[in-house]
Parts: sequence; C-alpha cells; structure tokens
Amino acid sequence: EGRKPYSEMSNEELEALERKLKAEYKKIQGLGLELNMSRGKPCVEQLDLSMGMMDVLSSDSDLRCEDGTDCRNYGVLTGIPEALELMGDMMEVPYDHLIIYGNSSLNVMYDQISRSYSHGVMGNTPWCKLDKVKFLCVVPGYDRHFRITEYFGIENVCVPMLETGPDMDMVEELVSSDESIKGIWCVPKYSNPTGNSYSDETVRRFARLKPAAKDFRIYWDNAYTIHHLYDHDQDHLIEILAECKRAGNPDLVYKFASTSKVCFPGSGIAAMATSLNNLEDVKQQLKVQTIGHDKVNQLRHVRFFKDIHGMVEHMRKHADILRPKFEMVEKICEEELGGLGIAKWTNPKGGYFISFDTMDGCAKEVVRKCAKAGVVLTPAGATYPGGVDPHDANIRIAPSFPPLNDLKTATELLCLATKYVACTKILEQRRAEA
Ligand code: PMP
Repeated sequence: EGRKPYSEMSNEELEALERKLKAEYKKIQGLGLELNMSRGKPCVEQLDLSMGMMDVLSSDSDLRCEDGTDCRNYGVLTGIPEALELMGDMMEVPYDHLIIYGNSSLNVMYDQISRSYSHGVMGNTPWCKLDKVKFLCVVPGYDRHFRITEYFGIENVCVPMLETGPDMDMVEELVSSDESIKGIWCVPKYSNPTGNSYSDETVRRFARLKPAAKDFRIYWDNAYTIHHLYDHDQDHLIEILAECKRAGNPDLVYKFASTSKVCFPGSGIAAMATSLNNLEDVKQQLKVQTIGHDKVNQLRHVRFFKDIHGMVEHMRKHADILRPKFEMVEKICEEELGGLGIAKWTNPKGGYFISFDTMDGCAKEVVRKCAKAGVVLTPAGATYPGGVDPHDANIRIAPSFPPLNDLKTATELLCLATKYVACTKILEQRRAEA
C-alpha cells in the first residue's frame, strides 16, 4: 500500500485496500484475543518494585515520627513532618504549604469542589446558592475530573489542549468575563491523555489570570510530576504556587498530587498544596471531617523512600519498565500509519498515556472494531465532558498494564482498525459528495 496518503488514492485503490484490510481484520478476530488497554494502571512488575514497603514496618518498629508523635494514635490533622517534607519535595513547594490527606488525590479534589459547593470558598457565596456555576475543562482530558463537576450540576465548558497547554487566549477571555466560571481542571505535566506539558508561557499566563469571580481557582492536578520516561530528556514545569505569588495572585491555585503511581495505587498518600490563606480555609472544614489521616501509611512511605532522592531513583525503575512499552506503541503507529494522513498520536516523555486521534467521525467505530476482536480500549469520547467528543476522533491509549507482547498485538489491531475504518469513511464521504 506504500506511503501514499489515503486522500490521494483513487476509489478503486481504496476499495481494493478496504477488502484487504477487512480480510486481515477477520483473521485477527479469529484469534480470540482478550486484552485490556483501557485504564492507566501500573503493571505487576511495577507493583513489585514497591514490595519493600511491606518490610519497612513490623511489630517491633518504633512508630514514633520525627517529632515524637506516636503514629499509632489519633492526631495530626495535616500530616507528620517527615511526610510533609517528602511530599513537599515531590510537589516542589515548602512543607508548610501543604496538607497530607488519605489514599487518593481524586478524593481531595472531590472534597475541594464539594466544600466550595456547600460552604463556599473563603467567605464567598456557596456555589449551591448560585443560579449558574461553570468549570473549564481542558480537552482531551481526564474523565474523572469532568465527572466530579458534572456530579455537582456544574456546567463543564471545553477548552482545547494545544501543544503548549490549554488555549490561553480562550481561558483568559472566558475567566475574565464570566463570573460564573469558578475553576479549571488542569493536568499540567505529562497530561492525561496527551502526555505533553504546559509551556513556561502558559504557566505564566495562568498565574496572571484576572478572574471575574473572586472564588475562581485553578485545579492544578500534577499527578505525573515525577513520572518521567527518560533520564535526560524530561519536561520541566514552572512551579505554579511560586509563580502565582510572584504575580500577586497567591491564592489562585490548588495543587494536587499523590503517590498512587509511585508505589501502590489506592494505598498511597495524597496531598494538596496551596497558599496559607487557602490552607486555613480548608482546615476549617477538614477538622470537622476527620481527626487525622493515616499516619502509619505516611510513616511507611517515608521509611521506604527515605527522601526525595529515594523517590526519584524509584521512579527510574518504573521508567525502565514503561519506556519500552511507550516506544513500542509509537514505533508500530509510525510503521503502520505514518504518512497515511488518517491518524495522529503523541510521543510523550512521561506520564501514563498516549493520545491517539483518528480521522473525524471514526474513533467510536475503531474502538468498537477493537472490542469485537477482543481488545478493550478506553471508550471513545471518554476524554471529553459527558463522554462526547464533538470530533469523534480521540482515543486514549494506556500502555502501562499489558505485557509487551499483548501490547504489540493490541496496537497492531488498533492500527488495522484505524486503517479499515478510515478507508470505509473516505469512500462513504466520496459517495455522498458524488
Ligand atoms: N489525576 C490524574 C490526572 C490521573 O490520571 C489519576 C489516575 N489515573 C488520578 C488523578 C487519580 O489519582 P489518585 O489515585 O491519587 O486518586
């Protein structure tokens, strides 16, 4: 079939190609595959890297932390000092600017929205008393973010993700003119799902926003802050809290992170970093909600990683497992689809995802064809609020979980389905025009 773009092929060429691809697809369908590339979960080998966490505490361990607090008992609302230091280093913020929570950062984000909804942000009107509340969603983005705001009846407004981050012209225009816009969901580094990071210019513009709403906040979910694939070729992000402070906007941002994809997802520790004013506001509610989070787990994390250097070294082991998987997906995509003009994909330097775009109007059918051949992908549309991608083009690829061989098979099928569906689509379009 060569490297001729599909759009330059004659109808006869496309029809012949469609027959060939259909036959190939039928053959793969007969293999009885059962693979899943739908969620960004670490694989077994990655989880094995953290088994030492099970050994650092035992029945004869001293469970007092640095300041003498007995971690077996109640107390300490915002986190033990050594865990604050570790998470502060991971999140690049001073240790007194964060709160350590429980096992999930998504949970922290939910609480943040929930509290704003029921009680308001720093004395502002609770969102539940307003006629209209809107949130900006960078798309394609993380489905679980969008579901939180959707759950509270907040209107999700899409802002496109560009190479440099969100379309900042649009963000500035919307945020400065509409008081009902109360926040924006951001994954600034190795973004879910595009894998790219916000440029310096984008971060600077974020820090200098002039929101119409006094209670507007940037929800800066830095979930992949230390999740590099390469030792030397890494993305760097301007630290947003400090940049906001420099810009005279200290209270503009809530920053989130967790150790979910550092050790055991679901059994990690999560944290939020923000200005001292915001922290005070949050603590008023937090002290009603809990006496304190799991300090034994905090201690376990610190005793296992020791310090940020230990954590960074640990992430290199993750990278050694993940890198070949990402590179394999990218290589197969290039070999199978490069130059055909029917698909685009990202080549991230970190994080957990590759974003894959079919021709407009093809993603749902590609995902359906893969499913019918035994490969489950993230549903098309999942990267948009309400699960609706207006272009029906985006598919999130999660290469981390399947073993290399399965990943190879799954990616080959994805490419085949993409070609097959594109062929049919172009022929359909030509018939409709004729
Ligand atoms: N934020 C992003 C961007 C994620 O991709 C994920 C997990 N896939 C989470 C948050 C969830 O984090 P946690 O386990 O800390 O709730």
